Amino acid sequence: MTGHLPPLRDPGDRQALVDLDKAHVWHPFTQMEGWLAGDPLVIAGAEGCWLIDADGRRFLDGVSSLWVTVHGHRVPEIDRAITDQLGRVAHSTLLGLANTPSAELAARLVALSPPSMGPGLTKVFYSEAGACAVEIALKMAFGYCQHTGKPEKRTFLSLDNAYHGDTLGAVSVGGIDLFHAAYRPLLFPAHRAPSPYCYRCPLGKQYPGCLTACLRPLEEALEEHHEELCAVIVEPLMQAAGGMIAAPPGYLRQLSELCEEYEVLLILDEVATGVGRTGTFFACEQEGVSPDILVAGKGLTGGYLPLAVTMTTQAIFDAFLGRPEDARTFFHGHTYTGNPLACAAALANLDLMEANQTLAGVRERSEALGRALKPLEDHPHVGEVRRRGLMVGIELVADRATRQPFDPALGMGWRVATQAREHGVLIRPLGDVVVLMPPLGIPFDELDLLARVTVEAVEAATKAPGPPAPAGGRW
Ligand code: PLP
Repeated sequence: MTGHLPPLRDPGDRQALVDLDKAHVWHPFTQMEGWLAGDPLVIAGAEGCWLIDADGRRFLDGVSSLWVTVHGHRVPEIDRAITDQLGRVAHSTLLGLANTPSAELAARLVALSPPSMGPGLTKVFYSEAGACAVEIALKMAFGYCQHTGKPEKRTFLSLDNAYHGDTLGAVSVGGIDLFHAAYRPLLFPAHRAPSPYCYRCPLGKQYPGCLTACLRPLEEALEEHHEELCAVIVEPLMQAAGGMIAAPPGYLRQLSELCEEYEVLLILDEVATGVGRTGTFFACEQEGVSPDILVAGKGLTGGYLPLAVTMTTQAIFDAFLGRPEDARTFFHGHTYTGNPLACAAALANLDLMEANQTLAGVRERSEALGRALKPLEDHPHVGEVRRRGLMVGIELVADRATRQPFDPALGMGWRVATQAREHGVLIRPLGDVVVLMPPLGIPFDELDLLARVTVEAVEAATKAPGPPAPAGGRW
């Protein structure tokens, strides 16, 4: 609930900060016209799973500060790991030098990578954001084909509703027209297959008889284009930013078998699903799939510092080996690649996940969250509640029977989020899909509060039009 702590700053400071923000900060994924007219929260501190604003008001962090927080905020063990590392060195480059925490973390991640029939993932390339790690994956796949005598393999296949980040390569394999269409003239062409969006299945099929039909367009694209395709890229189990679209069980497994059959590399983007979010360390483990390239980020540092990884196999790594004059070097890097502070935070996060048995805890909390959200399952304005671990999407609809969406101009997802905020819970929707992504270690009573406030917010927002949604837009 909205318990009150003493204000972290003088009351006058809040307005001064808002003024500075409005004068100078351009916010991501935000229609700034609406932002400039609004009265934003200014986060000044945190405690556990609560964010505290400049007036001392507390808000439950229902989306893990954009899907990153693992154990909560201000975790003593992670704080200590970062300050210990500060006492050694904050940053040194990985270009031509090694550093202690990046070497240790790479070994830990390899040990945690999906069990495989083959050699599995043995190499780790660091970057600072999911989108960078996706760029690296695309370039690695492309380079591998170039270096192994298959230069004609130079295109990618991705899914409708896919989101892989906002850099141009990642946008080229993105499938959300609202975000991506404007940039098409800048992008490289990629093949696209339908998304496994069961709730709005274009084939009108039902699980389990649907899988073959669902994968058929992808298989046809592989049949037709495999000679020019270097990789398929997908988000395993759940397409996140596309609206928490859960793939049916077996989909990933069959997709990976098709990639193998047609000799096309498989890139799994686990930026949203990885690091325990779905109840296993990587989501692909649940379907017994080990990709050629795996991308992770978000929760890697427990939600503390920007760090992402692109993991790959020995075979892909080996294809880049040679003398300098062979021009096989992987010419890619970022200034802060393998930053020691971020890697130290990640190591402390992994230690804590092990000590707290976080993965088992996610599975238990997921069941509890499912039970607490039961009242929504037959709500007249809820089409579907999709849940994988602690990753939940609640699709709001104008009419449950016909699945008719709300008029987008109503901004119904935002109306729900606004209601929840008034009751001390911060959530951020994706269009009309209400998203819950609590910290993985959230206490059960706070999880219950998150569910209760969400149910009440859906009830209130869909019953009465209420105040207009913030002009920040649908997303
Ligand atoms: N890939 C997926 C599946 C994501 O969900 C995201 C971000 O939400 C990204 C890539 C991009 O990550 P970042 O925002 O760290 O660039």
